Amino acid sequence: MHTLIAITFRICFRFGLFVLAFPLLAHASLPLSSNVPGGVAIIPLGSVSAGADTPQTWFGDQPVLVTSDHEQWYAVVGLSLDVTPGAHELRVKIGDVTKTLDFVVNAKDYPEQHITLADKSKVDLSAADEARAEREIAVIHELKHHWRAAQDTDLAFILPVEGELGSRFGLRRFFNEEPRSPHAGLDVAVDRGTPVKASAQGQVLAVDDYFFNGKTIFVDHGNGLITVYCHLERIDVKPGETVSKGQRIGLSGETGRATGSHLHWSVVLNGAMVDPELFIPAKHRRR
Ligand SMILES: [Zn+2]
Repeated sequence: MHTLIAITFRICFRFGLFVLAFPLLAHASLPLSSNVPGGVAIIPLGSVSAGADTPQTWFGDQPVLVTSDHEQWYAVVGLSLDVTPGAHELRVKIGDVTKTLDFVVNAKDYPEQHITLADKSKVDLSAADEARAEREIAVIHELKHHWRAAQDTDLAFILPVEGELGSRFGLRRFFNEEPRSPHAGLDVAVDRGTPVKASAQGQVLAVDDYFFNGKTIFVDHGNGLITVYCHLERIDVKPGETVSKGQRIGLSGETGRATGSHLHWSVVLNGAMVDPELFIPAKHRRR
């Protein structure tokens, strides 16, 4: 893909077509497709025709991101970790025609991870902490399902911090041998105070200090694509603010339920937490 873009650039510069070619380049990066729970299904919707509206798509009752790549429309469907393997349907509206497209989600067994936390108050919660955590889970659920229609969504993310990739997405977690929610993000090992950058252009949807996630920023990239940055030491942005790709939005830390300093980074697509490694440059990926 990158070679192709480089060649396109060279040809465009030689023939002075740069402006003409730009709209295509702006979309030219899809995430890796992975039809499993916690993955992303990329479903072709046909060719882009001049003047026609962007197709609209839904998975269940949740709207789904549609983008173009090399003059083809694609639905980019987030598959949550609890989606049932097997046949599923995407509802598609192109012009006045509504139809359904079938696709298959394959099973995936994520490995287990056993973590010992010395601070037992973060595992066996007091009644007050339990109530707080429950309130926050409801707030976070709403934020994850936020939909802002946008002209263009950049799906080619940068890694928000430079560091070694740690715990992967999807690990089935046990804290002090008690089963807990799976790991719905990617950990990157960094020292406290490392600048954390926005993985793509977007708008700050919310900032808060949560019981589990600590100081957290939600960045909305439009069309149901949202990134979440957790356990921060410091937050440098405010809700509603526009951020550019690579802009510093805060500093890493270990606030909330964290075993040492790291960035926990989540990617949400049509309300589903999906594997961030599908969105980052190939050189960083462990596959
Ligand atoms: Zn994590």
